[in-house]
Amino acid sequence: MRRFFIDKSLKEGDRAILGGDEARHIVSVLRMGAGDELILINGSGEEMSARIESVSKDEVSFTVIGVSSCAAEPKNRVTLFQGLPKSDKLEFIIQKCVELGIYAVCPVQMKRSVVKGERNAAKLERYNRIAAEAAKQCGRAYAPRVFSAPSLEGCALSEFDLVLIAYEDEGEKSLKSVLTAQKAALPEGADIAIVIGPEGGFEPSEVEHLLGANKNAHSVSLGTRILRTETAGMALLAMLMYELEG
Ligand code: SAH
Repeated sequence: MRRFFIDKSLKEGDRAILGGDEARHIVSVLRMGAGDELILINGSGEEMSARIESVSKDEVSFTVIGVSSCAAEPKNRVTLFQGLPKSDKLEFIIQKCVELGIYAVCPVQMKRSVVKGERNAAKLERYNRIAAEAAKQCGRAYAPRVFSAPSLEGCALSEFDLVLIAYEDEGEKSLKSVLTAQKAALPEGADIAIVIGPEGGFEPSEVEHLLGANKNAHSVSLGTRILRTETAGMALLAMLMYELEG
């Protein structure tokens, strides 16, 4: 069923009106009308199914016929701390990681980041829009948030149940061995951080800092090949989802 954004939280039986671009799309492009059903999402993780009562040129009046939690939402919340890459790459990373089930994305200026100063409000707004659109397109009901941290030191890593640092120079611990050892200790609905270096990789001092920031932080290898920064986060996230979400 078609999905549309609404900025309200409603319960079964509520009647409400949808306006703006979404309403115009429903009426003028999709030509939906009274009796048609649709799904409304507000980014919170809940889905509201609704039946259209009537339409005008730019408004849709509807009744909510059910509210449920979205089956497409992962049980665990994975946040990506991404060493700041060039901006078109960051947009690609955000879109793909939303499809793969990320909970939040935090671009971080790291020592070897080539680009500087991506933290302005207009850029963040654009990144959040990209995340929300990707969430809607892939059938999620939660819109992952893109926020920014001024530096690695500014990332609140101590609050996570597990921190996985993808480190290109990690010679001993593989992602598989760390997950096999840590999986059983993770709480239901764990908060997990994954950290990826920028194009130039991590400075060893950054990995040291990250390992000291949380007692459950581990640097892991993703294999014998060096992945580009935009590939590494997606690969790690896909492997995590496979291991933890089934
Ligand atoms: N310029 C660096 C590579 C950086 S790759 C070099 O030539 O060594 C960018 C980021 O992707 C890395 O910092 C790391 O976070 C991740 N990454 C890429 N390949 C990896 C691998 N095989 N194992 C773990 N992390 C990897």
